[in-house]
Amino acid sequence: MKIRFWGVRGSIPSPGSKTVRYGGNTTCIEVETDDGETIILDAGTGIHPLSQSLLKKLPLSCSIFITHTHWDHIQGLPFFVPIFIPGNQIRIYGAFDPVLQKDIGDVLSRQMEYCYFPVREAELKADIKYNSLHERQPVEIGSARVTNIFMNHPVLTFGYRIDCNGKSMFFTGDNEKLYNIYQPGDDYYTEYENQISRKNALLDDFIRGVDVLIADSAYTEQEYPAKKGWGHGTYNSCVDMAKNIGAKALYLTHHEPLRSDDELDGIQKQLNAIEALPVCIAYEGLEITL
Ligand SMILES: [Zn+2]
Ligand SMILES: [Zn+2]
Repeated sequence: MKIRFWGVRGSIPSPGSKTVRYGGNTTCIEVETDDGETIILDAGTGIHPLSQSLLKKLPLSCSIFITHTHWDHIQGLPFFVPIFIPGNQIRIYGAFDPVLQKDIGDVLSRQMEYCYFPVREAELKADIKYNSLHERQPVEIGSARVTNIFMNHPVLTFGYRIDCNGKSMFFTGDNEKLYNIYQPGDDYYTEYENQISRKNALLDDFIRGVDVLIADSAYTEQEYPAKKGWGHGTYNSCVDMAKNIGAKALYLTHHEPLRSDDELDGIQKQLNAIEALPVCIAYEGLEITL
């Protein structure tokens, strides 16, 4: 299995001289299975450069798994060039949202309406199929199996685990460590604490021992208090998660839009002191072979 990062930025694309080394495109990860199938995790603006590289593989068959439908995870999709080319088969997977009563196709086709984009969805030439997933519904893609679990973010968000010939990776999507919304002594504090423990145990079991954990580390510990509840992790929360589940390596992504290359270099230096496992701040073009 090969993993390539095409977009590592969170919230909004961040081009410019201060982000040129880690990259300014929003979330997109390509996974190539051992038998050559193409799996894409999220369709942020990084999917546009990815689509240029996939033009060598026409006719293309690929599967796109969307963690959630915030802009920074879907806004590249109308610019994913293979959707315009006949003969390509593109399967798009994501959650059915029971609160909004919308499936992934409903939400994604909205951004192809004329007020947002000049080409109507009905005019796309590729064979595009939407598939709504329930939690933990497995999908077999060639030699790989993709499964999902709910994460903690303001909209329904899947984390995806991919297993392929004994190797495994997990991508959190956007995720904030669960915390108790009550104060000690409040009526519901203990009950909520127990709920958090149960949910954490389920998540830990789901991802225990993965070879690669890719996690949302948008904030520093200093920034986090002002952003609590926005649904993102910190460098420390990701490292704790990786240690807790015995991940063999941790890759950090969804960089805060204003975080410069030099700042990320400084954070990487601090992370190099962690002995439990290798921790790497992801950058555009980074490749991992498992
Ligand atoms: Zn995001
Ligand atoms: Zn989000």
